[in-house]
Amino acid sequence: MKALVTGGAGFIGSTLVDRLLAEGHSVDVIDDLSTGSLANLATARSDRANQFTFHQVDLRNPGTIDLIVRRAPEVVFHLAAQMSVRESVARPAWDAEINILGGINVLEGVRMAGARKIVFASSGGTIYGQADDDDLPVKESQPQRPLSPYGIAKKAYTDYLNAYRELYDIEYTSLALANIYGPRQDPHGEAGVVAIFAGHLLNGEQCTVFGDGSKTRDYVFVDDVVDAFVRAADKGGGLLCNIGTGVQTSDLTLYETMAQAAGVTAPPQFAPDRPGDLQRSCLDPSRASIHLGWKPWTTLDEGVGQVLRYFKDKQA
Ligand code: NAD
Repeated sequence: MKALVTGGAGFIGSTLVDRLLAEGHSVDVIDDLSTGSLANLATARSDRANQFTFHQVDLRNPGTIDLIVRRAPEVVFHLAAQMSVRESVARPAWDAEINILGGINVLEGVRMAGARKIVFASSGGTIYGQADDDDLPVKESQPQRPLSPYGIAKKAYTDYLNAYRELYDIEYTSLALANIYGPRQDPHGEAGVVAIFAGHLLNGEQCTVFGDGSKTRDYVFVDDVVDAFVRAADKGGGLLCNIGTGVQTSDLTLYETMAQAAGVTAPPQFAPDRPGDLQRSCLDPSRASIHLGWKPWTTLDEGVGQVLRYFKDKQA
């Protein structure tokens, strides 16, 4: 397959690039390196046998369209995004410039290149808004009531994908990702609580839990998520599919799991809740199981173990 990955220098994108290259596919990456880094692509770039090309381009640049046409990919994996929910609230127009207008450049590139499929990284933690407890884990049929410009952009982009499918017969799958964790996650990003805890635990610093520790999230390991992207290249056409475990993990349970794996017995410190944080978030992955043949296979214990080893090796 000739693949093109936007956001391929980021946490999830670079893990996807490594998987595609390992399977012998040719891969182009478009990334402006705003939050991603070439270090994430060290493996991809170091093996001369890899058919790999990196393009440092901002998606907002209309040249993105020509670039995609020139590279003529069969499948485009669209992961580049501004990732911060808080920044999207503070700067909604800027968020839309990248996550909607930049995304439209990608879609126009896909259309003009005649690519057969686009697979999109949507966000299950934001497109549905706060679901009632009775509706957890959330299914794709749940009403979408995003509470942030970031969530609105992620929701709207799937609407564009649907429209392009109807108008131009371009196939798509939109993956509504839960809370993804794993090696290469930015410990300074707002979504990276596992990476943040890992850094503190390894440095002997106390971790902070916001609220009373009962807020829940649905944690999925990055390799499992990448597997969903690869499957979606050929399956799940015209669908939004949740990529989650269906299991809620509280902040306190996450801390205790990670502290135990790191050999730390100290409790966390508690700080006041941050306004706007969802109380509970969890996705039902049944549709992905049926249409992509996908299931998460990494347990939280295994996953956090890998994250701790990754950050320990980086410190060494
Ligand atoms: P990341 O920040 O590591 O990756 C995003 C990449 O996009 C970065 O390499 C960045 O440099 C690039 N980028 C940003 N703006 C760009 C622009 N204007 N032009 C070109 N490149 C640009 O984040 P990630 O965690 O790997 O997320 C990947 C995708 O998955 C994003 O679309 C994100 O919204 C989505 N997602 C992530 C999570 C999660 O838990 N990490 C959850 C739901 C959805």
